[in-house]
Amino acid sequence: MSSGAARLAELLRSSDRVLALTGAGISVPSGIPDFRSPGTGLWANVDPMQVAHIEVFLREPGRFWRFYGQRFAALRGKRPNAAHLALAELERRGVVEAVVTQNIDGLHRLAGTRDLIEVHGTIGTSSCLECDEQHELEEVRRRLAAAPDGVPRCSCGAALKPDVVLFGELLPEAALERASALAAAADLLLCVGSSLEVYPVAQLPQITLSAGGAVALVTIGPTPYDRDAVVRLTGDVVDELGAVLAAL
Ligand code: ZN
Repeated sequence: MSSGAARLAELLRSSDRVLALTGAGISVPSGIPDFRSPGTGLWANVDPMQVAHIEVFLREPGRFWRFYGQRFAALRGKRPNAAHLALAELERRGVVEAVVTQNIDGLHRLAGTRDLIEVHGTIGTSSCLECDEQHELEEVRRRLAAAPDGVPRCSCGAALKPDVVLFGELLPEAALERASALAAAADLLLCVGSSLEVYPVAQLPQITLSAGGAVALVTIGPTPYDRDAVVRLTGDVVDELGAVLAAL
């Protein structure tokens, strides 16, 4: 085991309040590519700003769903990996208080994480902007597959919108406020699989540090907080969290 994993285990033991923060990197071992990696993933041949945008959804739901339907298909059957399960286990043991995630794939919930703050929303449900009717993912998939124009619709006839924060949409305020409050109260912010470059999660480590807490990083690439981190593990997230769990 790396000395870094032992050090992180020790920090987890000695901290009263630990908040986990996750990004795309935790879902890569589940076969979900990090869409911001150059030349890979779903966004490689399309500008998401041009299609995954609220204005496109409102004006051209068919065009929106031609793109977003591929995203649904890409996420079909994906399962949580050992890193998701490790965070759920840490919550069960009372070590981790909650998980804040940028991911919309719903894998933390499938892994058993109970207190989950999805700051970019989730594909787990889709809603009608006209009447607020909400449908679970499998029902939306069914309506998507059956729709003659490729647009899954609400019972009222309006297009369903995934409960994901699209470009041009505001982030969910309550989720952001709770994430910030937890980050400020945390003795330790455990950042997993995030480059910490995308708002709003990019600001959470600074909130923890300013309030006197520590930041630990478990992520392959560089982050803006590499020099501030008390521990930095740069191996595979599954291996690293597995070692940390074993050392607890
Ligand atoms: Zn409706």
